[in-house]
Amino acid sequence: MSEPEPLQTSLFDLVTPSPDVLDQPPITAVTPNSPQIPPTDYAQIPNSATIAIPPGTYASLNELTTHCQACQRCELSQTRTHVVISRGNPEADLMIIGEGPGQTEDETGLPFVGRAGQLLEKILASVNLDSDKDVYICNIVKCRPPGNRVPTLAESNACRPYLLEQIRLVDPKIILLTGATAVKGVTGDTRGITKIRGTWIEWEGRLCMPILHPAYLLRNPSREVGGPKWLMWQDIQAVQAKLQSLSPDHSVNH
Ligand code: SF4
Repeated sequence: MSEPEPLQTSLFDLVTPSPDVLDQPPITAVTPNSPQIPPTDYAQIPNSATIAIPPGTYASLNELTTHCQACQRCELSQTRTHVVISRGNPEADLMIIGEGPGQTEDETGLPFVGRAGQLLEKILASVNLDSDKDVYICNIVKCRPPGNRVPTLAESNACRPYLLEQIRLVDPKIILLTGATAVKGVTGDTRGITKIRGTWIEWEGRLCMPILHPAYLLRNPSREVGGPKWLMWQDIQAVQAKLQSLSPDHSVNH
């Protein structure tokens, strides 16, 4: 197999995060749209995971944000500092879904702004994707699991309806699922991430690609052909190519 492109060898070195990103506050605006389910149930949504959140519950992401900010549907509400809902462009064609907030994300209220997030920025930049304009980033759970443990099934299930509403409202052309927890949390597929990364999966009529989690690349930084960073380089190029085929006006040099 041929050597990777020169760009790949300089990829993914950590950079200082943009102050603009770290200074960006969580979304707090409230839009007083009418809920589409009975007001009593609607008001109870943030209080208990037994209250359903049917598709179409939220008329806007701001309305969803209001509920998330006050959510106590699972025990992660007891230990969080901030609810971490999203960052990026709500109208982006590409959605990136991670596992859950870490310490930096819990402190800032923004997803993927710690070391793994810095690496994600580099990965996106390598194919000229701007994290502010070209992607919408969120997680399976919106509150930090203590000690960065994997979210429990109950926690993922409690938070999942919010995520499904985010997907419906953003309506991305492509969803990237970073790591096995994200794949399982969205599609229910429990196969190992190293087996299915880089393959296109159709889920609920949407095009998804599982990729390695950037944190995995931090722990396994090999750039050798077949190594984690090389695999990520293949996958992100495939994603960019697919984006361009789906949105021909999506220029790599915009
Ligand atoms: S993780 Fe999700 S369901 Fe649990 S408290 Fe936070 S926002 Fe609510």
